[in-house]
Amino acid sequence: DVRVRFAPSPTGFLHLGGLRTALYNYIFAKKHGGTFILRLEDTDQSRLVPGAADSIEDMLEWAGIPPDESPRRGGTLGPYMQSQRLDLYFQTAQQLVESRHAYYCFCSPQRLELLKKEALRAGQTPRYDNRCRHLQAAQVQEKLAQGLPHVIRFRLEEGVEPFQDLIFGWNRHEVAQVEGDPVVIKADGFPTYHLANIVDDHYMKVSHVLRGSEWLISTSKHLLMYRALGWQPPTFGHLPLLTNKDGSKLSKRQGDIFIQGFRRDGVLPEALLDITTNCGSGFTTNRMGRTIEELISEFNPSKITTHSALIDLEKLPEFNRIHLQKRIENEKQCHLLVKELKEQILQAYTAEIHDREVLDKDYIQRVLQLRKGHITSLRELLKPTYSYLWVRPSFSSQQVAALTPEGHLIASLVLKLIEDQGEKLSVEELSKDLKVLANKTKATKYRDVMKVLRLAISGLQQGPSVAEMMVSLSPAELCHRFQKLLQ
Ligand code: GLU
Repeated sequence: DVRVRFAPSPTGFLHLGGLRTALYNYIFAKKHGGTFILRLEDTDQSRLVPGAADSIEDMLEWAGIPPDESPRRGGTLGPYMQSQRLDLYFQTAQQLVESRHAYYCFCSPQRLELLKKEALRAGQTPRYDNRCRHLQAAQVQEKLAQGLPHVIRFRLEEGVEPFQDLIFGWNRHEVAQVEGDPVVIKADGFPTYHLANIVDDHYMKVSHVLRGSEWLISTSKHLLMYRALGWQPPTFGHLPLLTNKDGSKLSKRQGDIFIQGFRRDGVLPEALLDITTNCGSGFTTNRMGRTIEELISEFNPSKITTHSALIDLEKLPEFNRIHLQKRIENEKQCHLLVKELKEQILQAYTAEIHDREVLDKDYIQRVLQLRKGHITSLRELLKPTYSYLWVRPSFSSQQVAALTPEGHLIASLVLKLIEDQGEKLSVEELSKDLKVLANKTKATKYRDVMKVLRLAISGLQQGPSVAEMMVSLSPAELCHRFQKLLQ
């Protein structure tokens, strides 16, 4: 059975890099009819960020890649929060101590600090000197009986077996030669990442570990632990880094990589999923506008390369535009967009709304159908350029006074056209009719004609085509606006 997991630490909110790791796991699971697990690695109690744990799961749900088993959803191999599994880690550490693969270490923080300083002074990488490996059983018992603070360390064996990473190929790190024995249980009784991670992957029956490439270097250590425990290790695949398009690190300090932020800014989840996979490898095509179903069917893990994935966030609006259009074209989703937009209109224009009609479902839907493919987010429709859709324009008396006799004539001809044709107006026909009208008033340039019409409809100088603006509004509303200009 394929079982994969996304195992973030709730020491921060979900950002793009995390979302991408979760996404590859989700896709891998769905591709193989497997299970996608969310496990929260909250063993570093000092770095927990309040609200992060809940928010991470919220964001996965929002993104449309919900876990099958998780703290919230439960599952048969839970709990899915490491702080609720402390007994298991402790038992495993005991097992390792009994089989002499691990030992108690009583070295004081001061001694470790000293070791570190000495190494640095000698220009070496600091490492623990494994002193407590050599304590006699009786000494250990005595120190424990005295209640001395201690940790448990894993004894790193020499001679690491090479392993084959799904993405990075053959690997081998002689950990014992470069590192001191790692702590597996800390002085506060909590496990370290390394122990908790392998214990959970084992007991949660994880078949494939797909995680960021920063963990590649730790994998040999993990394999030694699996061996010491007599457990079959999962298959590993390390995902290349996600970076800015210039190759620099995606920084959390930039503040623009948190999923909550994208959501707040009106980015659609499917656009985010599309852009984070579009820049990387592992898919048969890299076209824009792929849905999650398409991503699943186009996924091919053997196509993942070791190069960093360079993301160009400037393209995000373009991705959003494409996916927004898809939603508008889908009846059910369009219905939801209408509701959302209605709330936004109410918020933005509460006092000025002249007519409840602009809050009418069919009206909003028509606006969306006309603007799809042009707008990059719903919010764009609340910008001043589109205010004509929701509120009546106000023109100054100077603007009205500046209207030439020809302008006046054009406006009244258009008014007549609306009165006669009303509901039958389409963008195409209207464009033609307006050209005909412009020809009738030969002395005026087409552009000036449009200026007059635009003024009557929106009070603005810019916006969508005049024909489109006219079709968006109801004939009654259009008549009202032209009459007002002509008064
Ligand atoms: N808690 C680790 C992290 O946040 C998980 C690494 C792994 O997937 O093994 O990156």
